[in-house]
Amino acid sequence: MTDATAPQQTERTLVLVKPDGVERGLTGEVLRRIEAKGYRLVALELRQLDRETAARHYAEHEGKPFFEPLLEFITSGPLVAAVFEGQRVIEGFRSIAGATDPTVAAPGSIRGDLARDWGRKVIANIVHGSDSPESAAREIAIYFPGLA
Ligand code: GDP
Ligand code: MG
Repeated sequence: MTDATAPQQTERTLVLVKPDGVERGLTGEVLRRIEAKGYRLVALELRQLDRETAARHYAEHEGKPFFEPLLEFITSGPLVAAVFEGQRVIEGFRSIAGATDPTVAAPGSIRGDLARDWGRKVIANIVHGSDSPESAAREIAIYFPGLA
C-alpha cells in the first residue's frame, strides 16, 4: 500500500462508463460518485469505440478467452470516457469501482451496488479505471491525445 502520510503528487486516471452503464442510464450516478469523493473532472466525452481502438485499450488481455467478447461488448454502444485528477486517484477510483466481478464487489462500490452477473461471455461491470500510473498515461493518450 502507498504510504498515505507521504506527500503525493497529483495524478490522473482514465475512467470509462462502459456501454452497459450508458445503456442503463448510470452515467450521471457514476460521475456523481467520483465527484462527490472529491476528484476533479478534467476531460469528458461520449464516444463509440471502433474495434482497433478497443484492442489498443485492452492489449494486455489479448489471447485471453474473454478478449473477443470484451471487444464486442466495449464496441457495442456508446461509452463515456473521462479523466479525473487528484492525489492517489488511480487507487481511489478502483476502490470506488469495486472488484471486477460484480457478484462479489463490496456493497457501497459502483460495481457492488449497480452491477450483477447477467450470464454473458464477458463480465459487464459498468466502469473501467486505469490500474497504474503507466496504464493511466497510456490510456489517457488513447482517448484524449490532446491532453497534456
Ligand atoms: P478491471 O481492471 O477490474 O476492469 O479488470 P481487468 O482489467 O482484469 O479486465 C478487463 C475487463 O474484462 C473486466 O472489467 C471485465 O469486463 C472483463 N473480464 C475480466 N476478467 C474476466 C473473466 O475472467 N471473465 C470474463 N468473462 N470477463 C472478464
Ligand atoms: Mg483493468
